[in-house]
Amino acid sequence: MSEKETKSTEKTEAEKCKEQLFSKPKHAGLILSDEKIKKADKFCEGYKHFLNSAKTEREAVAYAVSAAEEAGFVPFEKGKQYAAGEKFYWVNRGKAIILGVMGSEPITCGVRISAAHIDSPRLDLKQHPLYEDSSLAMLKTHYYGGIKKYQWTAIPLALHGVVVKADGEKVEVKIGEDEGDPVFCVTDLLPHLAQDQMKRTLAEGIKGEELNILVGSRPFKDDKASEAVKLNIMAILNEKYGMVEDDFISAELEAVPAFKAQDVGFDRSMVGSYGQDDRVCAYTALAAILKCDAPKITALTVLTDKEEIGSDGNTGLDSYYLRYFIEDLAAAFGANPRTVISASECLSADVNAAFDPTFPDVIEKRNGSFANFGVVMTKFTGSRGKSGTSDASAEFVGRVRRLFDRNKIIWQTGELGKVDHGGGGTVAMYIAKMNMDVIDVGVPVLSMHAPFEITAKLDTYMAFRAFKCFFEDNEK
Ligand code: MN
Ligand code: MN
Repeated sequence: MSEKETKSTEKTEAEKCKEQLFSKPKHAGLILSDEKIKKADKFCEGYKHFLNSAKTEREAVAYAVSAAEEAGFVPFEKGKQYAAGEKFYWVNRGKAIILGVMGSEPITCGVRISAAHIDSPRLDLKQHPLYEDSSLAMLKTHYYGGIKKYQWTAIPLALHGVVVKADGEKVEVKIGEDEGDPVFCVTDLLPHLAQDQMKRTLAEGIKGEELNILVGSRPFKDDKASEAVKLNIMAILNEKYGMVEDDFISAELEAVPAFKAQDVGFDRSMVGSYGQDDRVCAYTALAAILKCDAPKITALTVLTDKEEIGSDGNTGLDSYYLRYFIEDLAAAFGANPRTVISASECLSADVNAAFDPTFPDVIEKRNGSFANFGVVMTKFTGSRGKSGTSDASAEFVGRVRRLFDRNKIIWQTGELGKVDHGGGGTVAMYIAKMNMDVIDVGVPVLSMHAPFEITAKLDTYMAFRAFKCFFEDNEK
């Protein structure tokens, strides 16, 4: 080796200084061993299966219940003093679930919560949805959550949900998922005749009342009947589900993309699927509690509904159901629920927007999050001067930062877009309302809220590890 080469490998004072003082984000693919990467890929096989079997909040709850029971969780009993290590779950109206593992420390030390949401943007059927126009049978919808309406046309849709019939019987509907099932579709205008439509703004390109789903086109065989196509559809629904038109009134039917979760990229490094906001955090937070065996502090995973429409409603986290649950848990030990809640900590497990090189203008690069750079810790969300958010304290950010570093979690920070470029919220502010420390931790997502969203597998695996160490690590 020549003298010149020796010198070039020696670090200068400035280089050494820089190494010590500057933050250095690094691609998870460069940090993790091949073995760990394989583990992450394998973990995401289970994740894809979850995405395909749980496209609605109700289906996610059903999935969580069966996985929990298999892992030894039993239905929560009010008033029972749970012993350390005992596992329980409680379902709220079939649309939200709390899973817990009792800690060895007294309940007055608080609980640790990972809270993700299992509702995703979609098209809900209206209460009088079915009509016939020009010999086509259609369904009227009202979109749920923040969508770019034009993205929901001309893609195959499946219909999921429940119908409560006049006599109270509840029928489950799931059509468009199995091989051989028919699918449904919102039609769009051909470009040849879209001259006027093309002049509309992107937001108005497809209007809310134009999100009509095509569901049939053949008439009931009777020349005298009017609305014969609609009648034919109603006859099919009656035969299959025993329902009549008025049963739509007491139904929750959700149209979601019919396609399946798939690997994305030549390198298969990403997952593309509907509903990854926030099922990527729901799956990882669920996996973390299922694998949590003997925590010191009682651990809870909450999978909640209604986040996409502002957490309102009795299955959303702006309701008191989580507070009541912790109060019941505390009451069994004669503990003051306020003491328990105020000593508790929460990771609000929700996604953030990953930096998209095609749209670089909306994210300030120094503070944005990037796919494959690990789980994102988001101190605040909201909009217009941090309005509508829980801005986590420096102390709690410091606590979570130390936790992640100790456990070799690959993590990054993020913010939801440039200042005054829009924004959004999570359940964090509703958790904070209870006087709990809380911060958003989740996975960066590309094309968030689109029918086909994209995440990086290594980030998903890191989210699982992050929630798991939050439950299990007891150093402060
Ligand atoms: Mn979300
Ligand atoms: Mn969302």
